[in-house]
Amino acid sequence: MKKNKHKFIFVVGGVMSGVGKGVTSASIGHILQSKGYAVTAVKIDPYINVDAGTMNPTVHGEVFVTNDGDETDQDIGNYERFLNVELSRTNYMTTGRVYQTVINRERNLGYNGRDVEVVPDIPNEVIRRIKKAAHDHKANITIVEIGGTVGEYQNLLFLEAARMMKLAAPLDVLFVLVSYLPIPPKVGEMKTKPTQYASRTLNSAGIQNDIIICRASDPLDAKRKNKIATFCNVSAHDVLSAPDVDSIYDVPINLENQHLGKRILEKFHLPVRGKDMRQWRAMVGRLKRARKKVTIGIVGKYFSSGNYILSDVYISVLEAIKHASAALGVNADLRWIDSQVFERKPSSIATLAQMDGIIVPGGFGSRGISGVLKAITYARTRKIPYLGLCYGMQLATIEFARNVAKLPKAHTVEIDPRSPDPVIHINEVQQKNLQQSRYGNTMRLGGYRCSLLPGTLARELYGKRIIVERHRHRYEFNDRYREKLTKAGLRISGICPDNDLVEIVELPRTTHPFFIGTQFHPEFLSHPLQPHPLFIGFVKAVLKNR
Ligand code: GLN
Repeated sequence: MKKNKHKFIFVVGGVMSGVGKGVTSASIGHILQSKGYAVTAVKIDPYINVDAGTMNPTVHGEVFVTNDGDETDQDIGNYERFLNVELSRTNYMTTGRVYQTVINRERNLGYNGRDVEVVPDIPNEVIRRIKKAAHDHKANITIVEIGGTVGEYQNLLFLEAARMMKLAAPLDVLFVLVSYLPIPPKVGEMKTKPTQYASRTLNSAGIQNDIIICRASDPLDAKRKNKIATFCNVSAHDVLSAPDVDSIYDVPINLENQHLGKRILEKFHLPVRGKDMRQWRAMVGRLKRARKKVTIGIVGKYFSSGNYILSDVYISVLEAIKHASAALGVNADLRWIDSQVFERKPSSIATLAQMDGIIVPGGFGSRGISGVLKAITYARTRKIPYLGLCYGMQLATIEFARNVAKLPKAHTVEIDPRSPDPVIHINEVQQKNLQQSRYGNTMRLGGYRCSLLPGTLARELYGKRIIVERHRHRYEFNDRYREKLTKAGLRISGICPDNDLVEIVELPRTTHPFFIGTQFHPEFLSHPLQPHPLFIGFVKAVLKNR
């Protein structure tokens, strides 16, 4: 291998979306990383939106925030969790972002006055971005996941970029097709035809798949494997079975059991090293063996699409609980609790007595908020372990101000701009952003330092003085209330040393076993092999409270 030569694996979807292309891409990355290669991953979202910050979470799922403050797709979170690396703005692109760069460059005479055309100028910008990600992250191998499915008009230009890269360096580019094989109940048989069509559609974009990963509820049998191989023009060894599994963390193990790593490295003419995935397998084993049952309630406004609840909106929170639980041998039963129910029927708050712990995750707007406040009162007064994440910290502050510090009208100006006691307020810069409708990428975003005060729960859990955590919010703890709330018994345990903002509030252990709220989102930094200390502390407290 020539030195510093980058290799690229494009992962494209066939048949339908939502079958786990992101987890598959992350798993391929993990396998190659476990063989000693430096891996990074790029997600392409074929939307005009410049980032995911302005997309509807009920359609798009969670907005994952990188350390450098990009608002990205939840798959970036999957990559960080499976690869245990820090990704950045360069790892994410949308159609809008690509066009914006090309148009700005044109306005600056960056094309020296020549015609700027959709092809090749748009694919060329896509290629430049992919190569930059590989370079910036010093990757030997870069996984590039193209969102959507082949045959959609939206991702044609990205496929075109991929085709051009393959043409320029045939030995450095591979294509993985992640397809779906339905088993229609009335037919009772796994059907390969949609996959054949997907492969043909890819061919019509000038691309030949090298590997096909077959997602289905059941494992692929030999007969269908051979059929797909023949019709989709690959060796049967390169048709892999990816049935539904209990945990997403099983996926790399399942693919590696079919020698995916070796197949890819051979195609790249890269040495096949014999490293294994021992740590990962051990982690998955712990997850499966976890027996200590606890019940954790996640209280918030209900995100639904038709008749389905969308847990994807809080995927990082769910994964963070899983990581901590696996490490502690805990089997956490997570319950979605719609806070609006407490508004409609106040007596239903008693159902929270069944919870061993309560989490209020991030959120925006006023829907369901008075119900959330009721739940926080319940957790505080009944001494149920409480973890508030971003909005969950702001609302815990409001609840405390109203019911303990005797400021009954305390509120966040996000909901009540005229509150006489705006314990959560907005600064001038953010106020201007709103007045001028500058919503995109203008919140307080990404990693900020936070110093932890000695003798606090936060300091004890982290075991260090300075941490860096990721943010995504517009409103802040109002400094004018620091003294009043502290006097009433609220503890401020984390402060940003760079701008003096309050980042963590908690109740002293003498008054509550575990009550803490963070202005940042710790869930973004939890990894399966490195659970987050706040979640570890929370699950331990939950276990004690069982
Ligand atoms: N809505 C709150 C704010 O903008 C909290 C945001 C969040 O929870 N991510 O400050």
